Amino acid sequence: MVYDVIVIGKGPAGISGAIYSTRANLKTLVLGKLDSMLLKADKIENYYGFENPIGGRELLETGLKQAERLGAEIVEEEVVNIEKTENFNIITVDGQYEAKTVLLATGAPVVRVPIKNLDKYEGAGVSYCTTCDGFFYRNKKVGVLGYNDFAIHEAADLLNFTQDITLFTNEMELNVSDNAKPVIEKLKVNNKKIKELGKGDILEEIVFDDGTAEDIEGLFIAFGSASSTSFALKMGIVTDGKSIIVNEKMETNIPGLYAAGDCTGVFKQVAVAVGQGAIAAREMAAYIRKK
Ligand SMILES: Cc1cc2nc3c(=O)[nH]c(=O)nc-3n(C[C@H](O)[C@H](O)[C@H](O)COP(=O)(O)OP(=O)(O)OC[C@H]3O[C@@H](n4cnc5c(N)ncnc54)[C@H](O)[C@@H]3O)c2cc1C
Repeated sequence: MVYDVIVIGKGPAGISGAIYSTRANLKTLVLGKLDSMLLKADKIENYYGFENPIGGRELLETGLKQAERLGAEIVEEEVVNIEKTENFNIITVDGQYEAKTVLLATGAPVVRVPIKNLDKYEGAGVSYCTTCDGFFYRNKKVGVLGYNDFAIHEAADLLNFTQDITLFTNEMELNVSDNAKPVIEKLKVNNKKIKELGKGDILEEIVFDDGTAEDIEGLFIAFGSASSTSFALKMGIVTDGKSIIVNEKMETNIPGLYAAGDCTGVFKQVAVAVGQGAIAAREMAAYIRKK
């Protein structure tokens, strides 16, 4: 089945988008995890319509129920890749979906991993995109920094280029689905805490807190879930380095792909996320009808 709209993210931006798109009679699927920034907000008292403060969780859960009541399909799934074909293929940990338009509403990108010299080696051995750079590391010894399904997806991608792959979890516990197990069997796993990346102008080694080091030719960063910036790197979505760049219609530079909420880096507030989600849905409806 081809959805009219797939929303990635079930925070206020994504859910608002889904409310508007279902009410525009568009077949809408929301893919996301219950880890919105709103869950960290104890009380919200600057969002329109509530006389008394409302808890972030309650606001979020009410929005989810509202979208479901209106007909949006909401599935708890982590998205690991988006591919542009004639439509969009959305690859998740457990499956694949197709849509005519996509709304990226994944919230603020995950904070960078605090490893010394990571910045220094970006583009010189450190990469954020297996699709873009995997080919450069054919038969080389590479690492993937990560601990969950996104990292396993990236490692699976790299297995097309090399069999010498180590998963560096940086002391995080592996948190993966059953689907990941056949891939993990093909990897080495190193759980040590990383102190720094090192050697000359090009990455050559990973140094651990315990004083040991391991030679490496490339390191792919996939720490935490795929964020808007990871999708941007894979698909060529224009960013300012941290946030997705959108125009006043919430369009990215890729036709049919829209973004809303904290991932666009504007005033990070529920009211703004909800407003942007609404604009994006209206524009997605116009895009589909024009096509
Ligand atoms: C402590 C705190 C207090 C706050 N207080 C206020 C306040 O008082 N008033 C106010 O207006 N705002 C407040 N905010 C800000 C507000 O929470 C955010 O602006 C708002 O949640 C942004 O909505 P969003 O939909 O863009 O992103 P989020 O709410 O962060 O939602 C992102 C969604 O994307 C999903 N996602 C991410 N990556 C993937 C992936 N790879 N696959 C699938 N799903 C994915 C997540 O699971 C989540 O569902 C506060 C924030 C914090 C942290």
